[in-house]
Amino acid sequence: MQLEIQSTVTPSNQAASVKQGLLFVLSAPSGTGKDSVINALKARGVSFHVVASVTTRAPRPGETEGNPYYFVDHERFEDMIAHDELIEYAQVHGNWYGQPLQQITDNIQQGKDVLLKIDVQGAATVRQKVAGAIYIFLVPGSLDELVERLTNRQTETEEERQRRLTDAQHELAQQEHYDYVIVNRQGRLEEAVDNLQAIMQAERCRTHPRYVQINTKGI
Ligand code: 5GP
Repeated sequence: MQLEIQSTVTPSNQAASVKQGLLFVLSAPSGTGKDSVINALKARGVSFHVVASVTTRAPRPGETEGNPYYFVDHERFEDMIAHDELIEYAQVHGNWYGQPLQQITDNIQQGKDVLLKIDVQGAATVRQKVAGAIYIFLVPGSLDELVERLTNRQTETEEERQRRLTDAQHELAQQEHYDYVIVNRQGRLEEAVDNLQAIMQAERCRTHPRYVQINTKGI
């Protein structure tokens, strides 16, 4: 199956009868502060849709259905794969996560910018299947800061924390494959948010904005 989202391409900051949203892919090692950056940007009134992944991970305290994930069992997850409902899926830190395709296409076609919050494996898959996405990597100020954040949030067991730290070292090596790198230094969240906002704004102002084409063949 070949699905193409195409439009008369016009800068998304100009009035136009037909325009589609942009697709941003944001990756970061666990504990880097992705959610804090995204939430702070939303609080500034910047409009974009963050895709809620489907996961087999158990909800953490405060997490609810659809926020930030849809929680499913392995059987339902496999069913979604079998029915081509996920544009990508990966096992991250021992749990399965996937991005629902329809949530992406619906929003982009409606002209909304979409942000995928996915790990480096997911971003690599999206790179193969999607043309026109913008890739952003968020890094911590230092590895020590990352250790501190993961320790302080106390949402993982010691074993899980160690696994996430080992994974983080592999993930950090992937940043060269991204278009932009943003540093989220301890105590300087607003700087990281400024940078993400500037990138999104600049992409909206491009003379020839990137337009998204999704090849769903073999998903
Ligand atoms: P957490 O369990 O801490 O919320 O997320 C763990 C990791 O899974 C994060 O690095 C996050 O970016 C990644 N992740 C969340 N949703 C998806 C997804 O749909 N696909 C992929 N590939 N990674 C995801």
